[in-house]
Formats: sequence, structure tokens, C-alpha cells
Amino acid sequence: MSSPSSRWSKRSLAAQAMGHVDPVTKAVVMPIHVATTYIRDEDNAYSSGYVYGRPDNATTREAEAVLAMLEEAEAGALLFSSGMAAATAVFQALNPGDHIVASKVMYWALRSWLMTEATRWGLGVDFVETDDLDALRAAVMPGRTKLVWIETPSNPLWTITDIAAAAEIAHAAGAQLAVDSTTASPIHTRPLSLGADIVMHAATKVLNGHSDVIAGALAGRKADDFWQKIVSIRKMGGAVLGPFEAYLLMRGMRTLHVRTAAQAKSAMALAERLSAHPKVARVLYPGLPQHPGHDVAARQMENGFGYMLSIQLTDGEAAAVKTAARVGLWKRATSLGGVESLIEHRASIEGPGTPCPPDLLRLSTGLEDPDDLFADLDAALRSA
Ligand SMILES: *Cc1c(COP(=O)(O)O)cnc(C)c1O
Repeated sequence: MSSPSSRWSKRSLAAQAMGHVDPVTKAVVMPIHVATTYIRDEDNAYSSGYVYGRPDNATTREAEAVLAMLEEAEAGALLFSSGMAAATAVFQALNPGDHIVASKVMYWALRSWLMTEATRWGLGVDFVETDDLDALRAAVMPGRTKLVWIETPSNPLWTITDIAAAAEIAHAAGAQLAVDSTTASPIHTRPLSLGADIVMHAATKVLNGHSDVIAGALAGRKADDFWQKIVSIRKMGGAVLGPFEAYLLMRGMRTLHVRTAAQAKSAMALAERLSAHPKVARVLYPGLPQHPGHDVAARQMENGFGYMLSIQLTDGEAAAVKTAARVGLWKRATSLGGVESLIEHRASIEGPGTPCPPDLLRLSTGLEDPDDLFADLDAALRSA
């Protein structure tokens, strides 16, 4: 399901949600299809290609076509009821005894799922710092490792893993490479073009962008047996996205290019200004030359370095908690990628065993005036 027209850029195709027009009314916005079932032909066949609402919904497919185009996904894209449903479908496609190597620094809930549920199902999981390619090379077991799972930039330190190098290591061991590209979005990174096999998104975040939909997505490089297995897991397991959510997600993706560009620009400006702040010991943002992953990020990211950054405070954990309590414009909440800027003390939500430093605040930059965002944070930092 590649783009129907290579004549127009991805930005143009996304702005028009692929340019589909309702054939009956000529409406420029397609109707939301809510039917759970479809009429059979007289010979009992389903020539429409739509059989039953769980696997077959036109609104969902329209949104999937937009994402497949953005990710250059030959196998197409699949929407799920959440980011976690999308991610866990990939692991459920493995067999008991298979070995997985995953990023040590990654989305916390998925890391806990891998440590509890995945191992209960007989999957072997090793966590390594995947930005260290030697460590990754040492962790994969040729023949046994079936999946390498990386997140880049990864929560909440914004560690960068070299996707092309990780793909080479995974493939040499006979494994597939899956990339949680939620924070990069298709605008900043194109993992499939760098050699990844599967891209995962918490579409809840910047793809939808308005903090009003829980959704997940996968995009595949090729429709091989592993991908077909995932398609069948979603179809039978039923972790599908509802048509209203699919419609909202598609509306969000129409403005993805301009939102991510503005958010990344503000994040860069904040990162630079906060680097000079007396209450900030360290700014973690891959766009800064001093960030350990900057060189790889400059190579594999485009159109900026994303909207996520973290700060570590000179006065430690208590000052971090107080700063988050004293902001006004920034909203103190979990999640990321929305039009409203969010701030969060991650260590207290992740709990014991987290690799997140206690003095760290995670910032998701939204679409507010970047001067306002800085002024609000500056006042909170100084009073904490
Ligand atoms: C939010 C998030 C997820 C999980 O997505 P849900 O829609 O909340 O299930 C996975 N990975 C990353 C990087 C996320 O930010």
C-alpha cells in the first residue's frame, strides 16, 4: 500500500488524507463508517472486500493508508486500540523459546510488560543499552534472537540508537528489527528506509496530536510471514481501533507536518535557553551538540530533533518535584506529543528500578508561544 501518487510530496498527501473524496456527495472529508456488517453477494461472496467490522472498516483503512504513505511501508499499516496493543502484537507473533533484545531505556509500561508477561509466555528478553552497538552485537544470539526492539529517541533520556547499524546486527543474527518511533514520528525519522522491518507508534501521541485519542500503529517493510502473523493476531484478538478514533487520528495526521515542525523548533529553543539556566544542571535533547547521541541523530533524523526533552536540576529531586508543582502554563501530566505542553517528574511515576534519574523532569513541547513556555518554566525553577 504505497502512495498512490509519487507526484505529490508526503506533506501534500497527508494534508488531504490522500485526496479521497466521497463518491456520493463529493465531500472533501470522507464519512465515518460505523457499520459492523456488510451485505453479502447473491453467491454468498464478499466482492466489496468488507466482511465484518472487526477486521474490516473503511475509516480505519483510510487512516492506515495515510500512515503507510508517511512511513513508506510496502506491507501497509495496521491501527490498534492503543500503542501497547500494537507493541504487544509484535511480541505475540513470536514463539515460546524465542529470544528478544530490547533497549534498556524505553517506554516504561512496555518494559514492565516484557519483564512480566513476555517471560511468562516463554520469551527470553535481554535489555541492553542499544546506543552501544558493541553491547547490542554481544547480546544477540544468532539463530535464537528473533527480534531486536529499539526505541529512538528513547524515553526519558532521549538516547539515540543507530537504526541502520542495529538493522545490520539484527539481520546478521537472523532477527527482525522493530523500532518504537513514537517520539520521532514519520516526520523526523523513516526507520523502514534505514533497514528496520517494523515501525511502531503510540498514535496516541504526536500522530494524533490533540490528546483525545488512544491508538497504536504498526507499519511493515514487507508482507512476510511474520507480518502476516501480526495481521492475523489483530484480526482474531480484536485489538482494533474504533471508527471515530480512526477518524480523529486521520484528522490529526493532516496537520502532522506543521505541528511537528513548530514543536521541534520550540523544543530546540527551549533546550538552548535551559542549557544556560542556573537551576538546570543538564539538558537532554538530541538536537544539542553536547548530547551523546547528537551525531547519529543528525544523520538519521530530519526536519529537526523532535518535541521531547528532559532537564536535570542542580538542586536535585525535591526541586524537580516543586518545579513541576509550580508551573502554570505547562500542564503537569503524563503522556506527550499533544498541542499542550506537558511536564512530568518521571522517576516518581516509574517507581523502583527505573533507570530515570530522580532529579529529572520530562518536557513535551506543544504549540504554545515558546517565550511563554520559557517564562513559565523559568519562574517555577527560580521559586522551587
Ligand atoms: C505512550 C507510549 C507508548 C504506549 O502507547 P499507549 O497508546 O499509551 O498504549 C509506547 N511507546 C511510547 C514511546 C510511548 O510514548
